[in-house]
Amino acid sequence: MDYLEEFLEEQNQQNLLRKLKPASQRKDGKITIRGKEYFDFSSNDYLGISNHPKIIEATREAVAKYGTSAAASRLLSGDLDIFHNLEKELAKFKGKESALILNSGYQANVGIIKALIGKGDAVFSDKLSHASIVDGILLSGAQLFRYHHNDVKHLEMLLKKYRNKYRRALIITESVFSMDGDFPPLKEIVTLKNQHHCTLMVDEAHATGIFGKNGSGKIEEENLIDQIDVSMGTFGKALGSFGAYVAASKTLTQYLINTCRSFIYSTALPPSVIAANLASLAVIKNEPERRQSLLKNAKYFRDQLSAGGLKVKGESQIVPLIVGDAAKCVALSKKLIDAGYWVLPIRPPTVPNGEARLRFSLTYHHSPEVLEKLIEEIKNV
Ligand SMILES: *Cc1c(COP(=O)(O)O)cnc(C)c1O
Repeated sequence: MDYLEEFLEEQNQQNLLRKLKPASQRKDGKITIRGKEYFDFSSNDYLGISNHPKIIEATREAVAKYGTSAAASRLLSGDLDIFHNLEKELAKFKGKESALILNSGYQANVGIIKALIGKGDAVFSDKLSHASIVDGILLSGAQLFRYHHNDVKHLEMLLKKYRNKYRRALIITESVFSMDGDFPPLKEIVTLKNQHHCTLMVDEAHATGIFGKNGSGKIEEENLIDQIDVSMGTFGKALGSFGAYVAASKTLTQYLINTCRSFIYSTALPPSVIAANLASLAVIKNEPERRQSLLKNAKYFRDQLSAGGLKVKGESQIVPLIVGDAAKCVALSKKLIDAGYWVLPIRPPTVPNGEARLRFSLTYHHSPEVLEKLIEEIKNV
């Protein structure tokens, strides 16, 4: 097994070795690592509710009532009533007929994609799609066509050229992209999906809880609920909990219950997590000021950086500061960490060459005062 050590050595020499860094505390937009407290700009706790008292209380009550485990797949004896309560609430939240809970976003994408398409089918997916989408496509055996990021002209060209050579076709996009913080032209993708008889799947991992009047995501904000066939999202980001969902027609969720292997062959989530998810949906409903304030602060932060002559991307709560050179980006991250801001460099191959960046993931707890100081710090280094 020499290749293991060789690999690690090589990664280390290129400064690409991934390492874990245990934190003793993480809440309210801050993280404590090796006894030092930082402002945490690397979490997805966008609404700052992973320590919300109501969600903690709901979790406690569910442990007392149901115990600590679902102890089986839902198709065996793990199908507690609380899953159905959450699925009803989710269907309402997303404006769809039905919803199904999956164990994580990763498992959801891998399982759903593999269930919907296979050999002889085609998938058209954005070049920046999340690894879980890519893995689902690989597992499915369908032919993958990657279109340039958010480029509907390129998508249209590929559809015209290849769609008819395949039986079924699936288009997949995220509604907020995690490394760029930007949005796809969803309306135009819907038009293409209809013209070319495709199924459309949208991953709202970074949009759920943040966008739309009810906070259900970009699909709601853009009035496209009825046009999206498969709408998935997660509880582990803005919703401050864990797990994933798919909202769709009743037929589609029933189909998944019968075919989605990551649903069938995995122990259901602990009931306490489901209770937390229910409670966090209530928080989204009752505390809209969290998402409003987050988006306002993110706009302020992005505008200030941009006005200072720095290159930023996107329009969401994710603010990538493009540094360009990878080594420079690492150095900048080190300096900001020294100054008390936990922000990590994102380098190729995760992003294109020459586009190394610092990815600021803002949360509700990052007030304009905190951001102002951070902007000063960035300008200084
Ligand atoms: C985070 C993420 C996932 C994975 O979700 P988990 O619940 O963390 O497994 C899937 N898709 C996208 C776009 C994501 O950002």
